[in-house]
Amino acid sequence: MENTKVDALLSVQKVTKEFGGITAVSDFSMDVYPGEIHCLIGPNGAGKTTVFKLITGVHQPTYGRILFKGKNITRVSTSRKMKMGLSIKMQVPGVYSELTLRENIRIAAQNFIPKKELEKEIERLIDVVGIRNLGNPLVKNMSHGQQQWLEIAMALAAKPDLLLLDEPAAGLGPDETEFTAGLILELNRQGMTVLFIEHDMNFVRRIAKDVTVMHNGSKFAEGTLDEILHNEGVAQIYLGKEAG
Ligand code: ATP
Repeated sequence: MENTKVDALLSVQKVTKEFGGITAVSDFSMDVYPGEIHCLIGPNGAGKTTVFKLITGVHQPTYGRILFKGKNITRVSTSRKMKMGLSIKMQVPGVYSELTLRENIRIAAQNFIPKKELEKEIERLIDVVGIRNLGNPLVKNMSHGQQQWLEIAMALAAKPDLLLLDEPAAGLGPDETEFTAGLILELNRQGMTVLFIEHDMNFVRRIAKDVTVMHNGSKFAEGTLDEILHNEGVAQIYLGKEAG
């Protein structure tokens, strides 16, 4: 018996989101397959963040549906989606700045990890994202980059199968960007599927394997990183000119 077709881990199907008179996302579809590092790019206002918010449940689609592991999650609560294995790190910091690094991870992990395993899991997550050398500072004393890695650790506390990252390289210096790239590649090597939004094309080049391009709320192009980098229409929408 031959059955080589792999099912998508995440399937966004013909999704539209209207805010009053504004159509932020229009009839947009995208599949993310297990093992991918899939990047969603597009000019400002293309609809990328809205797609993320539809996936995580911050917004409900006006039309269309979203499947995760083959199940319809269009109207499933965000916390239930996390229990199903979908975790997100948004661009706006979601850390508690007056608490310590470990207290932050503990808050993120306690809903998913049995109490007697919690401390061991916190230490494991610290090693996974490579921030043991920081000690246990108050988060407000950590750099922007260090807070980003802490947030990735917090997102991993849910033991996700799919990790969503909204602009993981935003505001990072070159060394921090490189550290983040290495971290995502290592997580992926260990089996994590990753979907991320990014504007920094050097970062996209460094880690993305599959790319979906959005423009004016719709899918403009899709393919391997190499195909997208050689797509003239994609270059043109970034220059503000419509592809002919
Ligand atoms: P950027 O790269 O600048 O973050 P984006 O691709 O993430 O942009 P979105 O933030 O998804 O784009 O926005 C898509 C469109 O939807 C924009 O025109 C935006 O103004 C509009 N929009 C997004 N959220 C809302 C909202 N809550 N109410 C009204 N309009 C919205």
